Order: sequence, then structure tokens, then C-alpha cells
Amino acid sequence: MTLKLYPWQDELEKALSNLRGRLPNGILVYGPRGTGLFDMVRGFAESLLCEHPAPDGTPCGSCKGCRLVKAGTHPDIRYVVSEAESLPRSIPFTPPETAASDRKTVYREILIHQTRALADFLNLKSNEGRVKVVLVYPADRIRAEAAASLLKSLEEPPEDTVFILVADEIDRVLATIRSRCRLIRASAPSREEALAWLQSKGVENAEHKLTEAGGMPLAVFDEDPRFKLTDEVREKLFAYLGKGAAAQPQEALAVVDKDVTLSAATLFLSRWAWDLASAKVGCPVQYFPEQAAQIKAVAQAADAAGLYTWINSVRDARRVSEHPLNARTVIEALLLSYARNL
Ligand SMILES: [Zn+2]
Repeated sequence: MTLKLYPWQDELEKALSNLRGRLPNGILVYGPRGTGLFDMVRGFAESLLCEHPAPDGTPCGSCKGCRLVKAGTHPDIRYVVSEAESLPRSIPFTPPETAASDRKTVYREILIHQTRALADFLNLKSNEGRVKVVLVYPADRIRAEAAASLLKSLEEPPEDTVFILVADEIDRVLATIRSRCRLIRASAPSREEALAWLQSKGVENAEHKLTEAGGMPLAVFDEDPRFKLTDEVREKLFAYLGKGAAAQPQEALAVVDKDVTLSAATLFLSRWAWDLASAKVGCPVQYFPEQAAQIKAVAQAADAAGLYTWINSVRDARRVSEHPLNARTVIEALLLSYARNL
């Protein structure tokens, strides 16, 4: 048994294993989303609590430490994980007291009550006399006040405590947090590796799906409905966006139904924008190869300055896509400005 979960994680496994025995106080592992990075690092973090690990650090799976980890009750590990990342992994998440009971969005950022809850944990001695572990994900999505409190703990690290942070985008991690950590970069799988793996899982049409998932094999399985558009909405969007500057305002208003989330729509639009930008400079489209001809035609006819203005507004909307704005209004505004700018 090894720690790696996927064939492309050999190097990461080696890098993490090298830290065993002389753990730094902070470790920050970063690499592209959709490659199984967090789950692998989680396995490493939990393996530190095994009482009888194999010489290479692989946990035994049967000692008290391993059993407590499996039961989710080990007293020496804390998961500081956003609600969105907790959900698919059955990591417990407690919403803040101020959260509305009928809220429709999930928290995609780490919140202040989560880092505050660490205070007691950090002050206590390790229960089992070994190391204490704080696992943080996504380290590139921590609300400002939560980041400040986490930074304070990182600056004055309690004894025998290791902070293990995982980030999708290293550039979005606060420099002050980065500088307190040992950085480990996890690389993306090669296209061949990713394809071979998907095919071994019996994924049909793997080549095309991998391209749509931006080359990240696990993103192919991203079935989270909050980030997925229905086929019907996709078709409507393709029809609308394919018209470029000729798209009519009343069509924009008909595209979006009430169940479309801002996250799903802005993810889709940012991929379309990326493909348009690629086509504009003569590069092959990446996300929507089946619409390549249409994308090329729209890009060629588009006003370059207007196109980049629109791309920026999509990017801005993605940044706020976790806030409970009126999704429909924002998406409609993006679609209307598309035709206007192009
Ligand atoms: Zn064990």
C-alpha cells in the first residue's frame, strides 16, 4: 500500500515522505485542481497519527490512531476545510452562527469561526503524545479575518504542531502565509497519463471529456450540480454565444432559468471566454472543441478591446460567485454585455 491515490502522484509522495521525521511547522502543497491533490495530502496528514507506520510512513490501518482517524474522532487532527470541500468528503462542517437556515449557497471560503475554533486545540498538548495536525483547504480561499488568525498561529506555532495547507492556486495564497511554510509543488499529470487513467476507469469519450475538464482527470467526474449546467442550458448558451455581436437581448433573458447557479454559469462563460481569446490569437480552442468553428468565427469578427473587456467582467463575476448576489441578474448582465462588447 502506498499513500499516492493516482499514478501521477509519485513525486508528491516522495516530497511528502521526505518531510517525515523532521516535520516543519508549516507545509503548503499546491497544484492544479482536479488532480486529487487534497485527498492525497489528507492521507499524508492522517498517516502522521499512525502508531505503527511502515518504514515508508504508510499507516498500518489498524492501530488506535488509525481507527480514530477513520472514525473521524482523532483528537490530534483538525480539519479547517471550506463547506464546499467538506461536503463531498464527509468532513464535518459547522456553519457560522450567523448563517441563515434557508441559505442556498454553500461557503466556498474558510471562515473566521473555523480558524477561531482552533484556539483550544492549539493550546492543548497532543492527546496521544505525538504530533498535532491542522489540515487547511483551500488555503487560497480564506476570508481575510480568518487568514489573519491563521497567520497568527503560524507565526507562533505551538510545539509539536504541523500545519498542512493545500491550495489550488498558489498566487492567491497570502504572501505572509506562504513565507511561513515549506512549499511543495504538485504537478499536473501529462495528457497521456490522464487519458490512460480515465480509460482504465471505463470513461467513454475520455479524450473529449478530458479536454473539456481542462486536462485535469478528476474534474471529469465533477458531477456537483452546483457547478454543472443542464444540457438544455448549455445548448441555449451555445446558441446565444455562437451569434457573437448579433446575439439579441431578448434571447439573453431567455437563456437563464432560475436554477442556474452563478458558479456554474461563470465557469462556463470563463471557458468560453478563454476559447475566444485563444481563437483570436490563432491558437486552438481548449474547452469546447466541438464548437471550434463557431468560436473561431465569433473571435475573428469580434472587436479585440471589447472582447477583453468582456473577459474581464466574466473574471470579476467569478470572483464574487460565492456571494449571495442575485445570480440571474448577474448572468443576464454578462450575456447582454457580451453582445454589446463584441
Ligand atoms: Zn496505524
